[in-house]
Amino acid sequence: MKNTQGILIPEEIRQRVLNAKRVVALTGAGISAESGVPTFRGADGLWQNYRAEELATLHAFRKDPELVWKWYDWRRGIIGKAQPNPGHEALVRMEAFYPRFTLITQNVDGLHRKAGSRNVIEIHGNLWRVRCTEEQKTFYLEDVPLREIPPRCACGALVRPDVVWFGESLDPELMNRARQALVSCDLLLIIGTSGVVQPVAGFPAVARQAGAMLIEINPAQTPLSPLCDFTLNGKSGELLRELIPHAVY
Ligand code: NAD
Repeated sequence: MKNTQGILIPEEIRQRVLNAKRVVALTGAGISAESGVPTFRGADGLWQNYRAEELATLHAFRKDPELVWKWYDWRRGIIGKAQPNPGHEALVRMEAFYPRFTLITQNVDGLHRKAGSRNVIEIHGNLWRVRCTEEQKTFYLEDVPLREIPPRCACGALVRPDVVWFGESLDPELMNRARQALVSCDLLLIIGTSGVVQPVAGFPAVARQAGAMLIEINPAQTPLSPLCDFTLNGKSGELLRELIPHAVY
């Protein structure tokens, strides 16, 4: 039976998903789109005519920390009001259903944890956490809007969002955990990512090489689509619930 998006999930795929034991979900901005959080590459991803790639960099921060923090303050304002959607919730249920389940997210919005997911690798950091540019210590700063822009540490130095900017390296410990999960999974779900931000865009190939089945959920085709066994071209909220009715409802 087709769903409201006109998409049919073949029985064979349902069965393989049902029988999986070690599952990894890799999520991107698209899973939070139905919560009202703009993606970077969607039409509403622009802010004051800047593209994310111009603001989410160390270079931009050094040049104009006030501008960069104003952008983050805007994003935190949107995300602070957002609630997890059925896509986030379906992943929480999957974690309870499968013997091994790891969620690797590129999102910095914290919505997976807010929904109740526990084994979450926030590979690009978290936008509610900040890092002192002098002492490198991290702490949560959750004021919306911020009381001062740019915000500062008690030591007087500027703080930056504790996220991975374009051109920066990922935390090796988190990379290692992600890799462990990818090489040992039998099913990888790739949800709401445009598949262009490295090194995460290379993760599906790692799971594929290790023999996992790959299923993508995204309204658009992506560079990762040809690698997948199956692509569901629709929104993740409804489709995730349908893919795993055994786990969920
Ligand atoms: P992206 O903006 O490049 O791509 C979003 C993808 O989601 C697109 O392929 C789009 O077709 C798809 N999509 C849109 N609506 C969807 C829906 N309802 N269901 C499923 N898919 C949907 O995002 P990205 O690939 O995650 O990479 C961008 C980088 O931007 C990441 O590093 C991430 O940290 C950051 N980012 C995070 C957030 C967030 O935390 N919510 C938001 C924007 C960007």
